[in-house]
Amino acid sequence: MRTPIIAGNWKMFKTVPEAKAFIEEIKGKAEVAGVESVICAPFTNLPALMEAVKGTSIKIGAQNLHFEDDGAYTGEISGVMLKDLGVHYVIIGHSERRAYFAESDEIVNKKVFAAFKHGITPIVCVGEKLEEREADQTKAVCKVQTEGALKGLTAEQAAQVVIAYEPIWAIGTGKSSTAQDANEVISYIRELVKGLYGENVANAVRIQYGGSVKPENVVEYMGQSDIDGALVGGASLQPTSYVQLVEGAK
Ligand code: 13P
Repeated sequence: MRTPIIAGNWKMFKTVPEAKAFIEEIKGKAEVAGVESVICAPFTNLPALMEAVKGTSIKIGAQNLHFEDDGAYTGEISGVMLKDLGVHYVIIGHSERRAYFAESDEIVNKKVFAAFKHGITPIVCVGEKLEEREADQTKAVCKVQTEGALKGLTAEQAAQVVIAYEPIWAIGTGKSSTAQDANEVISYIRELVKGLYGENVANAVRIQYGGSVKPENVVEYMGQSDIDGALVGGASLQPTSYVQLVEGAK
């Protein structure tokens, strides 16, 4: 069985003192047997967070990495540096990075390889824009992005990837996809993985839903056959609601 995974994506929020205080609040609470609990924080918070979660089951992720190990890339952070901190996860290809930082499927793929090279599990984001949904392009867009991200991975690696299906029109808008619609797209993504790697990998790969997930709706998503967790922005910023999200995933 696939272990459900709740991941908070803090985006560009929280200073180091705020991040540390958050962990103090959720310790022992956002630790539910059978649910993986992950906080994906800004780079500046990562060393303090790695220290803060010692002795807990809470895992820490970054929100991006560069695909090269080092070099003249001003402002970038590499997999070597994240591995050095002991970070467990890294979000790759979030729609905000695709939209504002021109991340293509090729770049996403290179970043996925970089994450594996350094033993960090990628959380790869895919999802359609509103106009693509209205033009009935949702599955076509998810196909290109999923196949692009996984290109060249071994079956063993593909089985470890976490995929986050995040319809862009549902991010930060309060307009979430219905649980049934999200499940339909996520089942389709699982079928794609099956086509590429076979049934065992498709059954192993975890696929989250993201987009206006809250404590009030998380249980409904988790009740769907193919949804293995959530990637949560806004509702992951408050300790109480983050704890409720993790509890809702069991
Ligand atoms: P919201 O939960 O704020 O809609 O954000 C979703 C998201 O982008 C998580 O990566």
